[in-house]
Amino acid sequence: MNDETIAERIEKIRERIAAACARAKRDPADVHLIAVSKTHPPKSVAEAARAGLMVFGENKVQEARAKIPDCPGNLSWHLVGHLQRNKVGFAVEMFDLIHSADSLRLLQAIDRAGDELGKQVKVLLEINVSGEGTKFGLKSDEVPEVLRAANELPRVEIRGLMTMPPPFDELGKVRPFFRQLRELRDRWQDETGVPLPELSMGMSHDFEIAIEEGTHWIRVGTAIFGERAKKEPVINEDI
Ligand SMILES: *Cc1c(COP(=O)(O)O)cnc(C)c1O
Repeated sequence: MNDETIAERIEKIRERIAAACARAKRDPADVHLIAVSKTHPPKSVAEAARAGLMVFGENKVQEARAKIPDCPGNLSWHLVGHLQRNKVGFAVEMFDLIHSADSLRLLQAIDRAGDELGKQVKVLLEINVSGEGTKFGLKSDEVPEVLRAANELPRVEIRGLMTMPPPFDELGKVRPFFRQLRELRDRWQDETGVPLPELSMGMSHDFEIAIEEGTHWIRVGTAIFGERAKKEPVINEDI
């Protein structure tokens, strides 16, 4: 895998997406690939852009601030990692979609930042489906109330839901998490009347399963850019 170019890896991912869509009887045009470029340099982003990718994901505001100015200017950037309230202004400025809104206070801060910048801000609510695993994300029972309140915020446009299941050794164990997010989405749409058209789930090792379970966005890093140099820090960057 290490001898492959980024363009070759992207080609393989496109084939995997097409195969998963064929199995799930879905139109590949309904599945959107985000290249998660965290820890990788602008030249890798440029290479992926030359291979036709337009949407890139970062998990840290600081890294994105340093990187985006050195990348091609026509790309769309998404925040896929946890967002701290003191960085909301930068995030609202840089990102076209924030995947990780996980509290009403954060959504209110996003609304204020959107107001200051005169910008409608697209967000996904991050859901902690299992109540275990990742420490971020709303618990299922808090979601309808947050959805109703966030829907009243004039600058916030809720597009859907995101989840990050706990890491599993066995691939098959992830499917119930993805399926549950889709079922919760259907239920909460009915309950609140807030449309939630976009799901964000699936990464390098499990995106086919997410496609089969109805995802809109897949967030793929390693399978495009190769292994990251160091492990992700478990705690956030400011501590
Ligand atoms: C790093 C990251 C990804 C991509 O993970 P890979 O396993 O490298 O594909 C996806 N989503 C989030 C939130 C991430 O932090």
